[in-house]
Amino acid sequence: MTADSNVSDQAAKTQRPLEGQVMVVTGASRGIGYFTALQLAERGAHIVAVARTVGGLEDLDDAIKAKGGSATLVPMDLKDFDAIDRLGGAIYERWGKLDGLVANGGILGILSPLGHIKPSEWENVMAVNVTANFRLVRSLDPLLRHAEAGRVVFLSSTAAWKCKPYWGVYSVSKAAVEALAKTYAGETRQTAMCVNAINPGGTRTAMRAKAMPGEDPDTLPEPAEIAEKVVQLMLPDFTESGKLIDVRADAMFDLIPGYGQD
Ligand code: NDP
Repeated sequence: MTADSNVSDQAAKTQRPLEGQVMVVTGASRGIGYFTALQLAERGAHIVAVARTVGGLEDLDDAIKAKGGSATLVPMDLKDFDAIDRLGGAIYERWGKLDGLVANGGILGILSPLGHIKPSEWENVMAVNVTANFRLVRSLDPLLRHAEAGRVVFLSSTAAWKCKPYWGVYSVSKAAVEALAKTYAGETRQTAMCVNAINPGGTRTAMRAKAMPGEDPDTLPEPAEIAEKVVQLMLPDFTESGKLIDVRADAMFDLIPGYGQD
């Protein structure tokens, strides 16, 4: 090997630090998940892209291929928990490993006083935002633990702590996501894994438009901009775990820092 080839190997590694890795991104058909998947693929990761909308997943596949990357499309409903169980087995059979999970897929649900929320609506939001993420952890944990630098990021929200009136179901679901992330970070402390959550802040996506129909979307950051922050947490050289990254505040906190005595 020559000095020149060493330099070019190093340059390739710097541009594609995720070369050879396999990563699952949920909610990859649009918004933050779409751009996160695309940018992870640009850095070399093979993307296992999960969402229901086949057209959105196919657009992602085209965009990834155009950048010289690769993806496997998994059109499925995150409420299909048996399918989540099968996902872990299928990834093991095909690649024998998994290096990362971006648990991004989510829904807003209804904005309404707690007393007016139909139990079925509550259950629906909890199933997608909370239980599906638990089921993903359950299905993928054995693979992530064996990765050289397994990385997991959960998408949280300001709603998790602000708990504004009428945002109850979404707020409760995101508070649960942070509790899930903190618990999982603790359980993986002795491994090579890092588990964190990120609060993107208001972002120009379909979900935000539904939550804030009167808002001018041009005042909000693009999902591609937020995706860059998510991607940083998936890189092997990001070694913090149990943290909440607040994009708008450009700050990192302990997840659910607590108060008082045990
Ligand atoms: P979008 O509504 O643009 O995208 C949501 C994604 O989740 C879509 O790909 C959608 O795919 C997927 N999804 C929703 N329900 C299901 C389901 N049942 N099964 C499979 N996939 C599903 O949202 P954002 O990009 O804005 O949000 C991404 C994450 O960021 C969410 O967790 C959200 O809570 C969080 N967040 C967003 C903020 C914002 O301002 N945008 C602010 C704070 C947090 P499909 O419909 O094709 O299934």
